[in-house]
Order: sequence, then structure tokens, then C-alpha cells
Amino acid sequence: MIPPSFIQDLLARTDVADVVGRYVTLKKAGINFKGLCPFHGEKTPSFIVSPTRQTYHCFGCGVHGNALGFLMEYGGLGFVDAVKDLAQMQGMPVPEENIRPEERERQRQAREKQATLTDVLARAAQHWKQELKKSPRAVQYLKGRGLTGEIAARFALGYAPERWQGLASAFPKYDDPLLVESGLVITPDPQPG
Ligand SMILES: [Zn+2]
Repeated sequence: MIPPSFIQDLLARTDVADVVGRYVTLKKAGINFKGLCPFHGEKTPSFIVSPTRQTYHCFGCGVHGNALGFLMEYGGLGFVDAVKDLAQMQGMPVPEENIRPEERERQRQAREKQATLTDVLARAAQHWKQELKKSPRAVQYLKGRGLTGEIAARFALGYAPERWQGLASAFPKYDDPLLVESGLVITPDPQPG
């Protein structure tokens, strides 16, 4: 949820005429602005924008609202997207949405797991790079394809020799479930679900 105080602040700094004026040609009419209503077809303007009230109103079709309402109606945005859109126009960063503690914890765990998986993959890549160096046949093959050692290093090319459990030497715990989760290792009988 975006804090209501932020929305109040945002609206206070916004001029509804600026927002509507991005999409509708407005002409000064006394203290208000007038234009052709973007919500219904008309030849004579009955769409009024009031800077004092910070609202728009159409005497033809009855639409009515403030700057956020306009972005929602005209742009077809949801409330949160309209707030974000308006905040961007005003150069105001939207405050961190209030997240329930359980959700925050879930996100933290997901990030941590992601980092761990990244480590696992980096370690495997390192292992295969070493394997490449150890295999003259693989190096010869790459050279034959026009790939220099420099290119191999830049793109972190590696070599996985033809053997089952080749990664076992790179990981102290070969039965670590992370290896399966990262897709590096397959189990003969995958767990359901
Ligand atoms: Zn209208």
C-alpha cells in the first residue's frame, strides 16, 4: 500500500490542468480551462478543468475527477499505476510500499537462495574452465573452430568431460539439493512436485 500522506503530498504538488493538458488542448476560460471532452465526442467544448478545485468536469457526459482520476479514466490505469505515473511526472520517488513482515521474509529468503544458486553456478563454471585447460583435445577442438584462449576466457568457456558425476570433485557435498535445483545435476528419480 502506498502511504496516503504521499498521495496527498503528490496531489498538492500537482496541477490538474498540467496533467489533463498533456492529452487535451485546453483554453483559458475565466478562472477555468475549457476543452473538447476526451471521453465523449463533441464539437463544442463542455469539458472544464478547474485549477482552484483541482478537478475536471464534463457537462456533456458527466465525467468528473482529479488528476489521478483523469490518469485512471483516460489512461486506463489502476490506482497504483496512476500514482506512479503522476509521481514520475513530478519527479517524486514513490515510497517503499508497506510489505507484511512474512512477505518481507519470503523475499529475503528468495534473494538469499538466488545468491546461493549464483554461487553454485559460478563454482561449476570455474570447474569446467579448469577441465578445459586440462584437456588438450577440447582445447584443440576450440582452436579448430577459430576460438582463441582469450575468447575462451572472455566468454568463460569450459569443458565437461564425458563422465557421470563430473562435478563431484568441485563440490564437497555432491548430494546438496542446490545442485539439483540449479539444474546442474539430475537425480535418477526426481521428487514429485
Ligand atoms: Zn464528456
